[in-house]
Amino acid sequence: MEKRNYAAIVLSAGRGSRMNSEIPKQYLMLSGRPVIYYALNAFEQSMVQDIILVCGKEDVGYCQRQIIENYEFTKVRAVIPGGKERYHSVFCGLSELKKREIQPDYVMIHDGARPFVNQKIIMRCAEAVEQYQACVAGMPVKDTIKIADRNQFAAETPKRNLVWQVQTPQAFSFDLIFQAYKRLAERENQGEDISVTDDAMVLESMLDQNVRLVEGSYKNIKITTPEDLDMAEILLKNK
Ligand code: C5P
Repeated sequence: MEKRNYAAIVLSAGRGSRMNSEIPKQYLMLSGRPVIYYALNAFEQSMVQDIILVCGKEDVGYCQRQIIENYEFTKVRAVIPGGKERYHSVFCGLSELKKREIQPDYVMIHDGARPFVNQKIIMRCAEAVEQYQACVAGMPVKDTIKIADRNQFAAETPKRNLVWQVQTPQAFSFDLIFQAYKRLAERENQGEDISVTDDAMVLESMLDQNVRLVEGSYKNIKITTPEDLDMAEILLKNK
C-alpha cells in the first residue's frame, strides 16, 4: 500500500447517562486502566500518525495529565473540548485537523468508549477507505431484527443477512468527511432539526456517498451500561 497520511479522532466528550455513574464511562477503570486508554493505545500502535482526543470541556486538564502524559502517548497532537452531541464533537475534531498546515489524506473516527479496537480492524478500515473513500466497521447481526411501529408492534422484519450493527472506527477521505460535516453544521445553523448517530449517516445524507461496510469484531463493544463494563473485564482477561 502506498504510504498515506492518516489521522484519528478519538471521541471522549459524552457524559454517558446510561452508565449511572458520576464518572463518564470512558474514564472508568478497566483492568487497572481508564477505558479510554485502550483505544488511544490501539491508534498509538497503528499506522496513524496524528491523534486528536476530543473530551468534555472540564476534562481537558485531566486527559492531558492523567491519560496522555501518564501513559506517554506520543501521537496525540491535541486534546480539545467537544460539543453537546456526538456529531458536534466530531466536527470539533475535524475542524482541529483542518486548521493544521498539512491535512491528513484519511481520518478514522473512533468512539473512545470502544476499548477493543485492534490492529486488524484498523488495517481493514485502512484498506477499504483507500479503495472506497468511506467505510465503517461493523458486524452482521446475529439476532433477528424487528422494526417496530409507534405502538410497539412488529411492523417489519428486514432480511437478517443484510442487517449490520455498526461500530467504529469509521474511516473517510478527509476532504469528503469535512465537506459533509460542514454542510451538516450549515443546515443546523439554518435551524434544521438534525438527528445523526454515526458518521456514515452524515456522508450518506449530505453527499449521497456510498459507505463500505468492513468486518469489525463482535468483541468491539461499546461501553454503554454497567454490564458492558463487566463484559469488557471478561473479554480483556481472555484476550
Ligand atoms: O453516547 P454514545 O455512546 O453514542 O457515544 C459514543 C462516543 O461518542 C463516546 O466515546 C462518547 O464519549 C462520544 N461522544 C462525544 N461527544 C458527545 C457525545 C458522545 O464525544 N457529545
